[in-house]
Amino acid sequence: MPTPARRQYLDIKARYPDALLAYNIGDFYEFFDHDAETIARELHLTLTARSFGPGEVVPLAGVPMHAIEVYAARLVARGYRVAICDQVSPPGRGLVQRAVTRVLTPGTVVEPGMLAPARETYLAAVAIGRRDPTTGLPRAVGLAWVDASVGAFACAQWSADDLPHALQAELARLSPAETLVSAAVARDDAPERAWLHPYTLSVCPDDAFEPESARIRLCRHFGVATLAAYGCERLPLATAAAAAIIQYIERVNAPLLALLSDLRAYDTHGYVEMDAHVLRALEVVEPAHAVEGGASQQGATLLATLDATRTPMGARLLRRTLLHPLRDRAALETRLDAVAELVERLSLRQRLAPLLDGLGDLERLAARIAQGAAVPRELLALASGLGRAPAVVETLADCAATALGETRAELDPCADARDLIVRAVADPAEATGRLLRAGYSADLDALVDGASETRQWIAALEGLERERTGIRSLKVGYNKVFGYYIEVTRPNLARVPSDYQRRQTIATGERFVTAELKEHEAQALHAEERIAALDGELYAALLAELARSHARLRRTVGALARLDCWLSLAEVAVARRYTRPRLADDSALEIVGGRHPVIEATLDGVEFIANDTRLDDLDDLAHDDEPTRAMLLTGPNMAGKSTYLRQVALIALMAQVGSFVPAARARIGLVDRLFARVGAEDDLARGLSTFMLEMVETAFILRHATPRSLVILDEVGRGTSSADGLAIAQAVIERLCSVTGARTLFATHYHELARLAETLPRLSAWRMEVAERDGQAMFLRRVVPGASDHSYGVQVARMAGLPADVTARAAALLSQRLAPPALVAERPIAYARDAAADGADEVVEAERLRIGDGLASEERELALALASVNLVAVTPLEALNLLFSLQQRARVSLGMADRERG
Ligand code: ADP
Ligand code: MG
Repeated sequence: MPTPARRQYLDIKARYPDALLAYNIGDFYEFFDHDAETIARELHLTLTARSFGPGEVVPLAGVPMHAIEVYAARLVARGYRVAICDQVSPPGRGLVQRAVTRVLTPGTVVEPGMLAPARETYLAAVAIGRRDPTTGLPRAVGLAWVDASVGAFACAQWSADDLPHALQAELARLSPAETLVSAAVARDDAPERAWLHPYTLSVCPDDAFEPESARIRLCRHFGVATLAAYGCERLPLATAAAAAIIQYIERVNAPLLALLSDLRAYDTHGYVEMDAHVLRALEVVEPAHAVEGGASQQGATLLATLDATRTPMGARLLRRTLLHPLRDRAALETRLDAVAELVERLSLRQRLAPLLDGLGDLERLAARIAQGAAVPRELLALASGLGRAPAVVETLADCAATALGETRAELDPCADARDLIVRAVADPAEATGRLLRAGYSADLDALVDGASETRQWIAALEGLERERTGIRSLKVGYNKVFGYYIEVTRPNLARVPSDYQRRQTIATGERFVTAELKEHEAQALHAEERIAALDGELYAALLAELARSHARLRRTVGALARLDCWLSLAEVAVARRYTRPRLADDSALEIVGGRHPVIEATLDGVEFIANDTRLDDLDDLAHDDEPTRAMLLTGPNMAGKSTYLRQVALIALMAQVGSFVPAARARIGLVDRLFARVGAEDDLARGLSTFMLEMVETAFILRHATPRSLVILDEVGRGTSSADGLAIAQAVIERLCSVTGARTLFATHYHELARLAETLPRLSAWRMEVAERDGQAMFLRRVVPGASDHSYGVQVARMAGLPADVTARAAALLSQRLAPPALVAERPIAYARDAAADGADEVVEAERLRIGDGLASEERELALALASVNLVAVTPLEALNLLFSLQQRARVSLGMADRERG
């Protein structure tokens, strides 16, 4: 039989099986049983045991109450949920009542200390529709998400045609911290499980997603009869996902619901579709090979290069903007007009910058008011931020750009809210111990005055009593146990008046009280309690009053964030000499003097070599022959091919977020979808780079690209033998050029492929220019017409520091034109032999050989060994060992082994 205390714990725990239960006992939050083991492991805490009564000892680990937020933050960051269970009845006799007051989950944390300032933390929900009996896949899928730190709430729905890629692309943009799914979807064998693979899932009961009850729940939440106003009346799955979010938040952090006053249904077809591969290949917001906690990688993204924002909300908006390039030319021109005006008018930039500097995160502050969680410091920060709005409005008064004018119109300084805060809230620096300042409430002031009179009376008492009794050493003091007392030293005890009542004897004398002193003491204590109660009550009312302005505050703050974002784009454009792109509705692409924005910014002092790009409109009739739609770029490794490909895609992307671009001139026929694939060997760090995967991705492009799309393919076909790779690459290019018609840039170090340009009319061959001087290759980084004639592998190896004798030998081998496939056919061997074991034989063997005679067999051996290595499967350490043994053998065969040893 469990004790009542144990039963209470088990009852509560049973309601939160998926969370770690932090159970308040005294000054600690304790975790029991399996939870204790988990947190001891995760937080490196000591695991102890606690007895819940005779015979019942369970594992225990605990954290001090005041530190729970720090520990919980770490647990939540690792994907755990933490249920905070507090004492809800005043301490007294019998069992204290306890209840879970809040569940901290990765997607619902709003504590400022637990959130990253410059990016959103999203809670998402995915609702899966009925399955098609033939394919087994859903006919439609709904998605909803919320950023609980600001109250943004939105939903979308896709039909089978767009699945799963549109959903996956949207999830890649959001990168939700937590995703709600039904139990049916969370099952390992559910086909949708794979779509949601990298995300932290939280399982909700299946009925949370039931469309009809979802509709009713949402209507009730918004207090409306129909969802028409939210644009999701005909989107049952989007609605279901949104309702699942409402239900979940109700359970884990109900006060947040007040923030979710609006829901926006949106359509991703308005954005340029970019999936996770594109985001990674172009390093839009995250470096491709993110090293955990690697600060050195920070600068290597487009976001970092373009981010000169001055506020966290501006930084978040810029991030969202880069992840959501638009297809609509009119909307983009409006943005570009705003950025252009800021670029052109230095004085405008100079006036705006100081107004935005240090403005703080007004967006999240406003949300904390709506949640009733804002503390005085936060209110004052909001008021001071709002105080700058009138100056911003004035600064924008003479702007010509429509978007700047609209922003100005949205900038409601919310003077009433600001005045109220300034009038009401006490400056924490004054340390009055109260939330509200004097003069705000007459009732509160009267209580405070009364209390201070009492305190003054007590303060004056010592002087008065010394005079009355003539005891010069008499003291008035205070301690926690007895309250106020009058202390008289032993020699003076005879002079103590009769109204003194003895309370305590101490070493040097006695302590007394008087009836009057007790009375004042009671008054003082009572007054403090009443002051605190009234102060708190009035403050809560103030927050509720301010919360009514939340929608207006959000609009104002949104306008400030937009200004910050545009100003950042403008400042970077000026500093880096970007130009305004010309946007067009055709499918041409023309860039003169284009640069890679990120590499350019990281080349310290070295000049970045600008390059041109020209692809014709598909319907271009000005040409006698077919328009050029694809570029095949050849050149040796390290020549700059990948950089060039990415630079073209980045310029298009930048143009379609409304940014200026790193080019002397650019004319961009708007892109509907951006595709990027990087060949397996260039993408080893992903760990998934199999040839299979590469082909799956390439197949996807062939199926989904349109003539308006922009496709960059970097070394595709590399993940297999060169003959296969060449064949596949050729087939892919042929298909893209002649059937799909998408604008395509294809980079490869297989210079043999360039021949294709002779037969494919829409394809033009380009190469990275390389100059040779004294057998040294010099990469000029210039893209010029034609095909690269050889791959300069030996020169690159030399530049990389391979010993001169090895590169010399390699050059000799090359001149004899030993093509690897022929060799393999002749005598295939596996390179599985243990190099150390047979090394001795090799040396003996080699020593009999002299340079020039018998080398043919050894060079063959070497070439074979090299040719048969599976580079995709080899680990860096194995590669190094392999290189070492190859080098040893090469040295031996060149007769250098002895010299080296001597
Ligand atoms: P490839 O793909 O041909 O192997 P990369 O594009 O990776 O070569 O380029 C290798 C390096 O050369 C880059 O990291 C960059 O430092 C430099 N680079 C590339 N293009 C340029 C350029 N246009 N101007 C200056 N440096 C460049
Ligand atoms: Mg490359």
